[in-house]
Amino acid sequence: MAWRGKWRWLAGGAALLALLVIGRLSFTSAPPGVHSATRLQMGTLVTISVWGVADGAAERAMEPAFEEIARIESLMSRFLASSPLARLNEAPRGRTHPVPGELAQLMARGVEFGRLSRGAFDIGLGPLSDLWGFSREPPPTAPPSREALQNWRSRRSALQGEQGIEITPEGVNLANDAVGVDPGGIAKGYAVDQAMEKLRQAGVENALINAGGDMRIAGSKGGKPWHIGLRDPRNPDGVVAVMDLVGPKALSTSGDYERFFLADGVRHHHILDPRSGESARSGLISVSIQAPDSLTADALSTALFVLGEQAGLALLRLFPGCEAFLIREDLSFVQTEGFIAVRSKAP
Ligand code: ADP
Ligand code: MG
Repeated sequence: MAWRGKWRWLAGGAALLALLVIGRLSFTSAPPGVHSATRLQMGTLVTISVWGVADGAAERAMEPAFEEIARIESLMSRFLASSPLARLNEAPRGRTHPVPGELAQLMARGVEFGRLSRGAFDIGLGPLSDLWGFSREPPPTAPPSREALQNWRSRRSALQGEQGIEITPEGVNLANDAVGVDPGGIAKGYAVDQAMEKLRQAGVENALINAGGDMRIAGSKGGKPWHIGLRDPRNPDGVVAVMDLVGPKALSTSGDYERFFLADGVRHHHILDPRSGESARSGLISVSIQAPDSLTADALSTALFVLGEQAGLALLRLFPGCEAFLIREDLSFVQTEGFIAVRSKAP
């Protein structure tokens, strides 16, 4: 199985490193005191690790956390035809369609990130995501036709810079068929936050949840920090930064190496620039965000990836307690002053 995760948990010595991989692989082993379980959810492997809880109690605490993620997935999956979000996307445009309050609230968060990032983050780019098809199986091997992209762009620009999503107490109104909700840049972060809350309610104080690169940490591991490595974007076996984190802390990465294909020497990947309709090419190939919560880390990692270094760091300054680690195309990197890393090196 190919290594596709963005974070790995180093958890001690180099020998353990090979065994204890967090990301899109499941654990083969765990150190004493840690209980881990992995499930396939939201199109990725979700791993929950708890520390300092007895065997049976750990299982009992993790179950409601996994169930919470499943609940959120059934509410806001684009691919389950029965989900309220899929039904919103199918509804006629230009009129208000009722949606559950929780979904409306998450969408409002997405719209807010859209406003602050001046459209670089766009929760309404569902039809563009569908054109590219990065969430499909098998993954795409060629870009959409020029005509299809041009058609989307002209329908999108008819909205004159507006996001085309109106959220009221009665429901959500999508402006035209160039707008449809893709919560992919924010939903995993939200689900991780909610799952961590379930662990907390079950009395767990020390835990790590990783949903394919969206990670949240509570407490520590027996008084020691959680040890996390950031993947080298061009070498699946390499690590570019190592972090010792104590919760509460969230960490997310957006990279151009997660879902991509090469066509005529051009790398096309799943983070799209709504302004061009193409994969974002901002000079950055990996963006990691440390934040107080996972939703913010998730949304900002996507937004900064699209905005690039200068505009991205300007956006970051609007979010207290958020720090960034950016890897540029030439594999050099920059990290903000408060980004917690034990050591980092150019890949
Ligand atoms: P990952 O899903 O690999 O963790 P991200 O958090 O960066 O990566 O989210 C990428 C996903 O977000 C895409 O698969 C797509 O569903 C959605 N997306 C792509 N481009 C944007 C964008 N500019 N704004 C908001 N969401 C986006
Ligand atoms: Mg994201």
